[in-house]
Amino acid sequence: MNLLNKSESIKNHEITALENLEKSLKTIKKNNDNINAFLEIKEEEAIQKAEKIDSKIKKGEKVGKLAGLTIGIKSNINIEDFKITAASKTLENYIGSYDATVTQRIKDEDAIIIGTTNMDEFAAGSSTETSYFGYTENPAAPGRIPGGSSGGSAAVIAAEMCDLSLGSDTGGSIRNPASHCGVIGFKPTYGVVSRQGLLDLAMSLEQIGPFAHDAGGIALMLDTISGYDLKECTTLKETPNFGEITEKSSELMKGMKVGVVKEFFDVSDERIVDIVEGRIDEMRESGVEVVELSFDYIDLCLPTYYLINYVEFFSATRKYDGRKYGYRIEDVCGEEVLRRIHTGSYISQKEYSGKYYKKALQARSLIRKEITKLLQGVDAIVGPTVPKLPHKLGESLDPLEMYAYDVLTVIANLAGIPAGSMKAGEVNGIPVGLQIQGKPLDDDKIIQMMAGLEDAK
Ligand code: GLN
Repeated sequence: MNLLNKSESIKNHEITALENLEKSLKTIKKNNDNINAFLEIKEEEAIQKAEKIDSKIKKGEKVGKLAGLTIGIKSNINIEDFKITAASKTLENYIGSYDATVTQRIKDEDAIIIGTTNMDEFAAGSSTETSYFGYTENPAAPGRIPGGSSGGSAAVIAAEMCDLSLGSDTGGSIRNPASHCGVIGFKPTYGVVSRQGLLDLAMSLEQIGPFAHDAGGIALMLDTISGYDLKECTTLKETPNFGEITEKSSELMKGMKVGVVKEFFDVSDERIVDIVEGRIDEMRESGVEVVELSFDYIDLCLPTYYLINYVEFFSATRKYDGRKYGYRIEDVCGEEVLRRIHTGSYISQKEYSGKYYKKALQARSLIRKEITKLLQGVDAIVGPTVPKLPHKLGESLDPLEMYAYDVLTVIANLAGIPAGSMKAGEVNGIPVGLQIQGKPLDDDKIIQMMAGLEDAK
């Protein structure tokens, strides 16, 4: 059943919220020990919440948009009374003292927040292997990484442990695990969703966004969490309307024009290219115009992204000095987090900033200009989400190999544009994602396209 129908069935009391929750809890009990996608579960509270929603529905009272749906939230987003650790020993003892804006909005719409999900330590990674609480396994491709850094949030959807989940995407952390786990993940236009209550990796790049099995679920969650937030100065006053996206029709794609960027395919594994090209051919056959485009700055993307990421992350971590949260981050964090802090600190020094950071900012505006120019002539750009297949758990990659996963996703963060990933197909049973990137504030159009592509399948 698709998520919008399920949500209607709960509101009509055909399925109770409690039944829906019990199904999630049963799947979690059966599989979470192996998959390690949820970090903390609050079962009692979830049951109480489900009973409350059911009693409201019984009495004919109005309930919220997400009534009775089960939710997992990445453990770097504040939820009152949950352990919000960002999967780091640094925050092992931190209990969320308030709700992030997105959490509050989800609660206000009568969803059932079941628990927090696993991730790379402080969201700095692409594999969910660096979590202090152990790695997450890919439910769609057992024995492989689920991608990251929001690997737990993708896995809880792929393993059907809950209906919807939230992740954060600084350089691909929603789209990358969505691609590897075969689900949909969406990074909104910068400023569409409030970051208040998110533990920052790199504030100028990141957005919170949803994971779901279908485009309708993505729209429903964005309809809930998007919009201006008085408490967060980077949120936009006008944001897209996600409430209208209910239609699942490939007809809507007819007459659309999509761009295919040659360089995005040149850097990708051939097997991924074949799958994605197959989907693009199908689009063409169903009446979508496909044009070839070229992007000059592909080699600049990773260095630009990582320099900015290091500097902003270094500054964001200064508050973890041991006085408020118990541990000094440098004393207890993992290797990748320490690398970013040390490099970020070095680059931030006055005498080096002109050499590295200012150059990175200049490169960022070049990348932004170029991608905006390419988007001007088309409705969207389509291509692979991740250039490589997920590696096997236990295989060790050097930092540059790990960073190479991100080359196709960081562009949307550097430019602040919306981008989503949905399943395009499989290579030997391993899911492969199709990425759709659009103009700023065209988030709803991308989701509509995804709904169209689902229908065409
Ligand atoms: N893999 C990228 C990084 O390590 C992206 C992380 C993210 O989006 N949070 O920075």
